[in-house]
Amino acid sequence: MDNDCLFCRIVAGEIPATVVHETATTLAFRDIDPKAPVHVLVIPKAHHTDVVALATADPQAAADVLAASAAVAEAEGLTGDGFRLIFNSGAHGGQEVFHVHAHVLGGKPLGPMISR
Ligand code: AMP
Repeated sequence: MDNDCLFCRIVAGEIPATVVHETATTLAFRDIDPKAPVHVLVIPKAHHTDVVALATADPQAAADVLAASAAVAEAEGLTGDGFRLIFNSGAHGGQEVFHVHAHVLGGKPLGPMISR
């Protein structure tokens, strides 16, 4: 655990979150500032800064995050109409919290992937 990391502190129960799914290695909770009707963040419980660091250090945990994201999409009723799964990474990716997280977004048509 990184004591300075917001999401590590959520895993530790030091900061509240609305948890929607949990496994031995992952936690999923609602985004505090949702950008769509459904906006859930899926994280590995272990601290890795971004998706590259996660996939390099622990491919099984990366697979666990993907499986948990699919379970969340299913549980939130998103798989019929579709949804978006995003890993913002680094400065150009707009990453703000440096504990890797997948955004599960859906519940309405989300429009183009990025605006020009
Ligand atoms: P990113 O820009 O990909 O790093 O996304 C960080 C996300 O974390 C943003 O969508 C924030 O709204 C969300 N966020 C920040 N603080 C919290 C929190 N305490 N609980 C839930 N989501 C949070």
